[in-house]
Amino acid sequence: MADVCGPGPEETSVGAQGGSATGGDGEAPAAAARDLPVCLIVLGMAGSGKTTFVQRLTAYLHSRKAPPYVINLDPAVHEVPFPANIDIRDTVNYKEVMKQYGLGPNGGIVTSLNLFATRFDQVMQFIENKQHNHRYVLIDTPGQIEVFTWSASGTIITEALASSFPCVVIYVMDTSRSVSPVTFMSNMLYACSILYKTKLPFIVAMNKTDIIDHSFAVEWMQDFEVFQDALNQETSYVSNLTRSMSLVLDEFYTNLRVVGVSAVAGTGLDELFVQVEDAAKEYERDYRPEYERLRKQLAEAQSLKQQQQLERLRKDLGAVNITKTSATEDPDIAGPSDLIMTRGSRDDDEEEEDEDSDTDDIDHNVTEESKEGDAFGNFLKERKEVVQVRNRKGAIPDGH
Ligand code: GDP
Ligand code: MG
Repeated sequence: MADVCGPGPEETSVGAQGGSATGGDGEAPAAAARDLPVCLIVLGMAGSGKTTFVQRLTAYLHSRKAPPYVINLDPAVHEVPFPANIDIRDTVNYKEVMKQYGLGPNGGIVTSLNLFATRFDQVMQFIENKQHNHRYVLIDTPGQIEVFTWSASGTIITEALASSFPCVVIYVMDTSRSVSPVTFMSNMLYACSILYKTKLPFIVAMNKTDIIDHSFAVEWMQDFEVFQDALNQETSYVSNLTRSMSLVLDEFYTNLRVVGVSAVAGTGLDELFVQVEDAAKEYERDYRPEYERLRKQLAEAQSLKQQQQLERLRKDLGAVNITKTSATEDPDIAGPSDLIMTRGSRDDDEEEEDEDSDTDDIDHNVTEESKEGDAFGNFLKERKEVVQVRNRKGAIPDGH
């Protein structure tokens, strides 16, 4: 029964290194020590270069004698090209999640991140223990941006981080794929939506400047007329909506931090860290009071909302058949990485085998996320049934 149980989020050995937070000749990153590290949450469309960017930042900060604390939140990545202090893949086996819940790749990623979010308090503990050793915490997120930005787990993780540490969102954008004004505008609209969704200081990292310089984009952002000209040349089909949208964006651009970088060539990083420091100050000035309040609320109410959500996610997990399936006997996936998720620190009074863990009685505190929690619970139950039926069928040789 305990076959899928194991340790929760773990620190890998790199976590033990106490990197000097000061010294070095670099300008911004190696500036005077501060009490708390700044968390850089790296978001961006699939293929925009987030992972390569985190890898590059890690190398850059190491060279500046300010090794970062690095977290990988992408359960589906084949190889993490940087030394991760915490890797979601050590806790959640994405392939096994797909198998046991009968999900495809996208569902598997979302579910894995949800499962990991239930243990994020442990991750926070790790970061807090090391907070004096690191000037920056880097967080790489799943390839598909919406997995993080439009999920309950992304909100849980962002709020947990931002209520303890200064946080900055770095939106990585593929400059080479934004040369068309319409695509550029779509990308900027997306960035804009994330700015409002995450409620954190924001930097746009225009990546892949080794392929194309980002000056064209900066010009479009600074000069509305130039952008309109480009739109007109691009296609005869430029609707009024597109024009109106670009007017709205004009407002968004005025306070936006933009840096051209190349994750591959390693250019633009000095400028990036100047912007990061500026954004961290903005967090302290404008965002911290809000998050302090949130933190207090969470403490006072025993983080009721989050707790309920987490409880639901945990119960959902508890509701899943955790007896060994034939799939887990596959020698290829045996071993510690076979663990879907730990339940090691479950409260003793939680019912392990609660068949029907509906929590209809706490409706008075329904929020967007808690509704999502319900939906997630129902979804997992349904998937469980589907998989059980499928497994039963599988006992009889398949028709093909
Ligand atoms: P992610 O899905 O956002 O994590 O993107 P990856 O880091 O996996 O990168 C996607 C692809 O873009 C890979 O083939 C990278 O080599 C490439 N890439 C990332 N950054 C750069 C860059 O600065 N310049 C160029 N030319 N390619 C890059
Ligand atoms: Mg990636």
